[in-house]
Amino acid sequence: MTAQPSARGDVAVVVPAAGAGLRLGPGAPKALRLLEGEPLLVHAVRRIAAAPSVAMIVIAAPPADVDAVHTLLAEIAPVTVVAGGAERQESVAAALAVVPPELGIVLVHDAARCLTPVSVFERVAATVRDGADAVIPVLPVVDTIKEVDDEETVLGTVDRSALRAVQTPQGFRASVLRAAHAAAADSHTDDAGAVEKLGLPVRCVPGSDLALKITRPIDMAVAAHLLTLPAPPS
Ligand code: C5P
Repeated sequence: MTAQPSARGDVAVVVPAAGAGLRLGPGAPKALRLLEGEPLLVHAVRRIAAAPSVAMIVIAAPPADVDAVHTLLAEIAPVTVVAGGAERQESVAAALAVVPPELGIVLVHDAARCLTPVSVFERVAATVRDGADAVIPVLPVVDTIKEVDDEETVLGTVDRSALRAVQTPQGFRASVLRAAHAAAADSHTDDAGAVEKLGLPVRCVPGSDLALKITRPIDMAVAAHLLTLPAPPS
């Protein structure tokens, strides 16, 4: 199901939304679970569509739900919906395949980070537009991190000042993301990881506390609370 790219921007946003979400417990595919009465995917697409740079949104949906997802989102924004794959990277590849060559910037954004503010999409896109091949939004790591062995005995303490927690949207020059996916032999959990394997630099920009990934039941509770705040943290 295809919608034409709009003329207002130079960015395609690819949204892998085909995961089962087993860590949330039994229920619908994660992107279709309800947060304050609306599916996570609706929350996500509403924010993506509000970003001025965005010309096209491509959703990789659970294969059985392609038509339903298209109907669900039709009133929110023009979207293209494709069937996702068994692994996240297959879902991203399926969505990337329908992005037309004239869109030079591609952002990959997990549906599970459905409260990510418009400012993060614009920051990532602007940094790619300024010349970066690959850009990731990050936060400092607040916990102390230990490396352990197979028996949970501590091997050492990692210097957290050099660590970053990585969010989405991750932004890429479209040709770089296509090359990274074509070259990726191993499974990877983030697209920037595939670009790193090409030996290309990946730039960090500030992420947002609102871009939390809804994975466990407690994340859903936190997200519901964030929606009630009059001026949510950025
Ligand atoms: O499972 P995880 O939380 O890492 O998934 C991250 C994102 O990737 C979610 O938005 C999920 O819907 C998506 N995904 C996908 N296709 C899969 C697995 C996950 O689109 N096969």
